[in-house]
Amino acid sequence: MSYDYHEPHSLDDALALLTRFGDDGHLMAGGTATVLLMRQGLLRPAHVVSLRTIDGLSGIARTPQGGLRIGAMATHRAVERSDAARGYSPALVDAFASVATVRIRNQATVGGNLAHADPAQDPPPMLAALNATITVRSPRGERTEAVETLAVDHFTTSLSHDEVITSVLLPPILPGTREVYLKFLPQTADDYATVSVAATLRFADDATVADVRIVLGAVGPTTIRAKRVEDALRGARPTPERIRDAAALVRDEVDPLDDLRGSADYKREMARVWTERALAALTR
Ligand SMILES: Cc1cc2nc3c(=O)[nH]c(=O)nc-3n(C[C@H](O)[C@H](O)[C@H](O)COP(=O)(O)OP(=O)(O)OC[C@H]3O[C@@H](n4cnc5c(N)ncnc54)[C@H](O)[C@@H]3O)c2cc1C
Repeated sequence: MSYDYHEPHSLDDALALLTRFGDDGHLMAGGTATVLLMRQGLLRPAHVVSLRTIDGLSGIARTPQGGLRIGAMATHRAVERSDAARGYSPALVDAFASVATVRIRNQATVGGNLAHADPAQDPPPMLAALNATITVRSPRGERTEAVETLAVDHFTTSLSHDEVITSVLLPPILPGTREVYLKFLPQTADDYATVSVAATLRFADDATVADVRIVLGAVGPTTIRAKRVEDALRGARPTPERIRDAAALVRDEVDPLDDLRGSADYKREMARVWTERALAALTR
């Protein structure tokens, strides 16, 4: 593993280095995914550009409107321990606290997690369920993108090599909204999810469902938004029967792989079970 390591002190310097190195350069944040890929020989950059020495990328704070802004270099552990994040959404904190071990959470960053785009990761489904957007900087300026559309395939995002995620913005949560993150871990407590479900639900005054968002992890090439399940619930009273019938629709929305955590059929069935549990938790 031979490469030149660069520690720029400003985002502009980092962007200039990424432009200069082109495909020979690779960005690094906490390094938990990058170093593994380099050790396995799957990634061989000639230049590594670290974000660690750039100030101002790791804050976590409520916005004046009642949302939450998380800097891309905030660690998972920082989100887990943040009063601002907990005050915004305990389920968001649950999703970050579900990642691997404290050691990984102390090092892994929010931006690195999103850019790594492993569909079994915990934060992306919850961030998508909460309708989060990322801010991205490049030499061409700034743009925003929904977390929901960032990943386009296994370990692949819409980011180009010279784009840096600088922050994640979560909008204010409407009063009366409930949120939940559930991770199915049949093997060890520090494993990746076999299936995960992040959901938010808001009741209307007449006890029907005014709005619902359901996003699953680990059961497709990217996180999967369960739109058919959502449509079956929106405007309806979420009785146990209605929830059971709606959750069954998720089987046709997911696209899992056979792997060491189970067969595709098993994961499809677990997606149904855990979607029903998430909806039950939100409506009891
Ligand atoms: C042993 C182990 C267990 C794990 N278990 C879990 C788990 O249970 N749940 C879970 O969710 N995750 C798990 N992970 C994955 C972990 O969450 C990711 O490795 C981590 O979030 C990546 O963040 P990082 O800061 O270390 O990224 P890096 O390794 O530094 O970077 C990852 C990728 O993102 C790019 N990148 C980094 N920052 C930015 C940025 N700001 N803008 C644009 N691109 C960027 C890098 O170029 C690289 O391609 C596990 C990882 C390990 C090693």
